[in-house]
Amino acid sequence: MIGTPVFVALGSNLGDREAALAFAVTALGAIEGVRVLAVTPALETEPLGGLPQPAYLNAMALLDVTCTPHELLAACQRIERQAGRRARTRWASRELDLDIVRFGDVVSEEPALRLPHPGLADRAFWIRQLEELEARVDG
Ligand code: ATP
Ligand code: CA
Ligand code: CA
Repeated sequence: MIGTPVFVALGSNLGDREAALAFAVTALGAIEGVRVLAVTPALETEPLGGLPQPAYLNAMALLDVTCTPHELLAACQRIERQAGRRARTRWASRELDLDIVRFGDVVSEEPALRLPHPGLADRAFWIRQLEELEARVDG
C-alpha cells in the first residue's frame, strides 16, 4: 500500500451485470493514482427504495489510492457514464453504480461526497464485503 486504502461498492441491475462489474474493475485500475488490490466475489441483492426493479449484482473493490477523494468521485462518475448509465431518479435501475464507501479515515458531510458513505450503517452486505477486504489491507 503506497497511498490510502479506499473501498468502492460496485452495483448493476440493468443489462449485462457481470460485464458491467468487470468493466468497472478494469476502468478503476486505469484511473491515474489508483491501483486495484482486491475485489470480492459478486453477490445478488434486492433493490433498495421499494420500487419494483431487477435484482442487483454487487461487489466491492479495495483500492490503493494517491489521488484525492474528489478526483476519484469524478472518475467513478465518468466510468458510470461509460457503462451506459444516464441520469434517472435516485435508486432507479442502472447499468453501473460506483459508491465510495470509505476513503481512508476521511470524514465528509458534503452532500456531493459523504464519507464514510451513509449507506454503510444499514447495508449488511457492504459491511460483510468490507470486512472481507479489510483483512487484506495489511496482508
Ligand atoms: P445511495 O448513495 O444511497 O446508494 P445512489 O447510489 O442511487 O444512492 P446516486 O444517484 O448514484 O445515488 O448518487 C447521488 C449523489 O450522491 C451523487 O451525485 C454523488 O455526488 C453523491 N455522493 C455523496 N457521497 C457519495 C459517495 N461516498 N460515493 C458516491 N457518490 C456520493
Ligand atoms: Ca448506491
Ligand atoms: Ca451512487
